[in-house]
Amino acid sequence: MLRAVFQTRNPMTFPVSGTGSAGMEFCFVNLIEPGDEVVIGVNGVFGNRMCDVAERCGARVHRIETEWGRIIEPDALATALRQCRQPKLVAVVHAETSTGALTPPADLARLAHEAGALFVLDTVTSLGGCPVALDDWGVDAAYSGTQKCLSAPPGLAPVSFSPRAVETARRRKTKVQSWYLDLNLLAAYWGEDRVYHHTAPISMNYALHEALRLVLTEGLAARWQRHQQNHLRLKAGLESLGISFAAQEGHRLWQLNAVHVPPGVDEAAVRHRLLNEFGIEIGAGLGPWKGKVWRIGLMGENSRPENVDRLLDALRRTLHR
Ligand SMILES: *Cc1c(COP(=O)(O)O)cnc(C)c1O
Repeated sequence: MLRAVFQTRNPMTFPVSGTGSAGMEFCFVNLIEPGDEVVIGVNGVFGNRMCDVAERCGARVHRIETEWGRIIEPDALATALRQCRQPKLVAVVHAETSTGALTPPADLARLAHEAGALFVLDTVTSLGGCPVALDDWGVDAAYSGTQKCLSAPPGLAPVSFSPRAVETARRRKTKVQSWYLDLNLLAAYWGEDRVYHHTAPISMNYALHEALRLVLTEGLAARWQRHQQNHLRLKAGLESLGISFAAQEGHRLWQLNAVHVPPGVDEAAVRHRLLNEFGIEIGAGLGPWKGKVWRIGLMGENSRPENVDRLLDALRRTLHR
């Protein structure tokens, strides 16, 4: 079922024990050896986190610094790749949860491959909420999380490695610096031999199994369409309140709506009222967007027209006061 949701045929597709960040670490610790050059797109919190993780693996990191709310452009990647001698991998966040921007991955993957690098994609917020097609796009390694658009509790990180990525991990000269996240040990555990490695969080695996069953019962296309329609419903309602979107037009996420706080409004007071009086939690801005934006999640089961209407009504009343 994970292969179906990731749209991949990669045999090496399974849930790593730990939250989405464990999936991020899994990709970097297995693919990077000390001294490797890596190129990372940074257009929000999670691109920054990937740089931190890669540096801890001993990588020499080239950052593609991009304005918050904007996507990672192919031209910017091409420029960064020209500054590398032998890039090992390129990593990008598909759906930047801190800004609401959706970066199209296919051209970036092609540029990475032309430079001889692997392409790694963070799909924590995208998987189950908008199209993710690892094989069509040429993604070599991807990771996700259970608690965003898959609507399971937090605790597992679905990952997928292409045969090329698996080869890269198998041919390492140095040991993977993390015993817990070592692909070769985990492959033996998930493989036919079921060699004991660690105690998997069994209850979470059942939860993910059920969540994936629900995703596939609904159907991927129907699920994406539901996320899109509820985003449009929210957008129309917010615009009638004079509230505009913060991320680059044409590249906005359906499942995470980052919007400008209207001038003169105490943004924290509004969030607290929504939570305490209406039982609705919306996210605050992070980093440079702290105090300037709200982030409204419409993820998985939560993406429902009645939830959109309830929020719009609560927001209208709160702003009026
Ligand atoms: C939430 C998130 C993560 C981290 O996942 P955790 O489950 O919080 O560890 C990584 N990348 C993106 C894009 C995310 O939204």
